[in-house]
Amino acid sequence: MKLRKTLTTVSFIAVFSTAALAKVTYIHAGQLMADPASGQVKNGQTIFVEDGRVLEIRDGYVGEGDVVDLSGQFVLPGLIDAHVHLLHENGPGDKLARVTKTPADWAIEGVPFARATLMAGFTTVANVGDENTSIYALRDGIKAGKIVGPRVIAAGNVISPHGGEGDVFGYRADVTHAIARPNLCSGADDCRRVVRQHIQFGADMVKIVATGAVLSDADAGIDQQFTGDELKAIVETAHALGRIVTAHAHGTAGINAFLEAGGDSIEHGTYLDDSSITLFRENGAYLVPTLLAGATVTEWANKPDTWLSPVTAKKALDVGPKMVGATRRAHESGVKIAFGTDSSVSPHGQNAREFALLVEAGLTPLEAIQAATVNAAEHLRISDEAGRITPGMSADIVAVKENPLKDITSLERVVFVMKAGTVYREP
Ligand SMILES: [Zn+2]
Repeated sequence: MKLRKTLTTVSFIAVFSTAALAKVTYIHAGQLMADPASGQVKNGQTIFVEDGRVLEIRDGYVGEGDVVDLSGQFVLPGLIDAHVHLLHENGPGDKLARVTKTPADWAIEGVPFARATLMAGFTTVANVGDENTSIYALRDGIKAGKIVGPRVIAAGNVISPHGGEGDVFGYRADVTHAIARPNLCSGADDCRRVVRQHIQFGADMVKIVATGAVLSDADAGIDQQFTGDELKAIVETAHALGRIVTAHAHGTAGINAFLEAGGDSIEHGTYLDDSSITLFRENGAYLVPTLLAGATVTEWANKPDTWLSPVTAKKALDVGPKMVGATRRAHESGVKIAFGTDSSVSPHGQNAREFALLVEAGLTPLEAIQAATVNAAEHLRISDEAGRITPGMSADIVAVKENPLKDITSLERVVFVMKAGTVYREP
């Protein structure tokens, strides 16, 4: 208040500064890890937030008026999940839902899942595979402040070969044709067309399926599906249009063919080998391990009354238990790791369970936090916006009770969430 009076007497311009200053929120952080890249933790800090952005950070507790008291909490940047599917949760109803739900239904399904994700401390997600118009509507609704949810970087539907993992399975041929997603392509030229149109209709990034998948009811294994020519055409076209390309890939040949084509990141990466590791490092490509999905499908497949079909259950038991080992190997060899859960396989809002699994795979707690902040931001090309609490960044700030460097599972119990300066959850 004292500051306001002093400034208003100075000049007309100062009146404007005063108006701006009046909107400052002061966050008192008991412990603060502002930049996970260094991992430095400081006690008793004040974060100034103005117009949705971090203005500055000062030692000690300062400011009055709009003060958020997190003096008993550990404060860190909003978390980033680079692999979710916000419009559903997998279960026995999947096959029927595909022929009964409309795109409008899917978008509305996503509303509570988006909220649950944000409340769990995830202020940004990459949605890597969901119906185009539904996910774009959800993304844009959140951005416009009509719906509560994380910032969404949307890939729209996955791009897949005809008959490949991103096609549909288990229906009559005529039904299959009727409900096929629009992003199927065969041959390099056709794939260029699909990528261009996909970006035309709203994709922020491109997600392809380079190999078979666990949860598609297809008895076609888990290895390479697109040819090298197709992969090259997809990556070149997406890059020329300013988009990153990430690939769902389990089998070795598919992982390596995609990385050889210049791909930016691999989701899952179950059967990566030494050549994959070399390619990852040459490209500076990220691995998004999704260990929580591996753990979840393994759990399902091991149940005597599992809802998975025999074909799917077999693939789940093939892939699920191997994912921790693959991540360990990649991490030890210096492959960059970005945090991703494949939530929709596991329930939305439980994303932070991935942290403990990453630590089980050999990451230190700090490295696991880096995966979900600075690394995921770099992977998604949003380092100038998210991943750190430093001046100029979006004010995406979360807090937990216990220091996650001592107990990584404390991130499963987020007590405070701010996204772009708005508080969504308070202790
Ligand atoms: Zn997925």
